[in-house]
Amino acid sequence: MAPNILFLAHVSEDGTTLPKVAYEVLGSALDLTKQLGAALTIGLVGSSVAAAADSIAAAGAERILVVAGPDFAQARYATDAAAVEALCRASAAELIIAPGTSRFMRVLPGVAQRLNGSVDSHVTTLEAVNGEVRATRWFYRQRIEGVIRRDARPWFLLVDSGCHAPWTGASGAAKVQEVAVTLPPAATRTVVTGIRAPKSDAQTIRPDADLLLVAGAGWTKKQADGKPHIAEAEQLILGFLHASGASLGGSKSLVDQSGENQAVLQFMTHLNQVGQTGSTPRHPKGLSTCCHGEEPHVVGWRFINERRAVNLDPNCGWARGKADVLYVADAFEVLAKLSAILAEQKRSVSAAGAAPER
Ligand SMILES: Cc1cc2nc3c(=O)[nH]c(=O)nc-3n(C[C@H](O)[C@H](O)[C@H](O)COP(=O)(O)OP(=O)(O)OC[C@H]3O[C@@H](n4cnc5c(N)ncnc54)[C@H](O)[C@@H]3O)c2cc1C
Repeated sequence: MAPNILFLAHVSEDGTTLPKVAYEVLGSALDLTKQLGAALTIGLVGSSVAAAADSIAAAGAERILVVAGPDFAQARYATDAAAVEALCRASAAELIIAPGTSRFMRVLPGVAQRLNGSVDSHVTTLEAVNGEVRATRWFYRQRIEGVIRRDARPWFLLVDSGCHAPWTGASGAAKVQEVAVTLPPAATRTVVTGIRAPKSDAQTIRPDADLLLVAGAGWTKKQADGKPHIAEAEQLILGFLHASGASLGGSKSLVDQSGENQAVLQFMTHLNQVGQTGSTPRHPKGLSTCCHGEEPHVVGWRFINERRAVNLDPNCGWARGKADVLYVADAFEVLAKLSAILAEQKRSVSAAGAAPER
């Protein structure tokens, strides 16, 4: 018999819609539902869920169950776990598919435990083979792809972003069923008093960006005049990020420099590191600058579709089949020129009255 499937989402921080990854995972859940000939229930959590429910009213779910109210506005383990547990029980779902947001990553394993089920995170694809559900995820730094089958139910699947095209459809007037949750006083004991976050300009890691800009150690090395130009490098990189909306990655050599008390780019941290011992971000395009393109770094480019690099050295690693295009050029000059072109484009678009494209 086809299983009951519950797609779970929480409203985004602005409280109006769902996070982008939720629409992607909804697309994946709908595909699986169709393959299994099953029925999909949607479960939503948030302070006010009406606008988010309307945005997916046309997705074709049998029911939309919601847990709503001020107690569920912000991420908090006790209230989120109670909300998710109530939605799972109300839907009697055997498969629970949810976006791998930090809010859900924290809570769903605990709820799986309460319901005597199983959970898998960082899922990249879901499909039905002969009526059986298979989930895939990467292991060992994206070198081994595992296919997971489980007998345990309920089975919670937290799906990563960037793995499925988002579901799109017109919004409508959603009919929702409210699920009541009685919270013990202890559940609301933890109060979020504020959020300390870096200034938005300093937030250089942008998983949804179309472009990944990678900066390598070359930016801090002596240049043609025999001197390093750190301040200029900082200004060029930040200026380009600002103009392009790109996400910033770094090579290990560059991010390690701060730990070695060398002159460094102030905004570069170990979180930016791409590679074998760093991250494996997903972006449609990548531009590497002042980075040699050695294998332990390039292994982190596995999910970057179109790769270009700027390096002074025509024999660098990128030239050896690791990039689609290598510009043998000075990255200081290239980035200055690129930022000037982007600024000019923005000026002409805003003069024409339209929103600038990224
Ligand atoms: C077990 C292990 C794990 C590792 N994991 C990682 C990892 O996760 N990520 C990672 O990045 N590395 C990793 N490394 C290190 C990796 O092998 C390289 O040492 C590192 O990536 C080199 O960084 P880089 O290319 O920025 O620096 P460099 O090798 O110093 O290269 C700098 C480049 O800048 C170029 N350059 C200089 N000035 C300019 C200019 N004006 N314009 C254009 N180009 C210029 C130079 O030609 C040179 O090619 C790992 C190594 C090991 C052994």
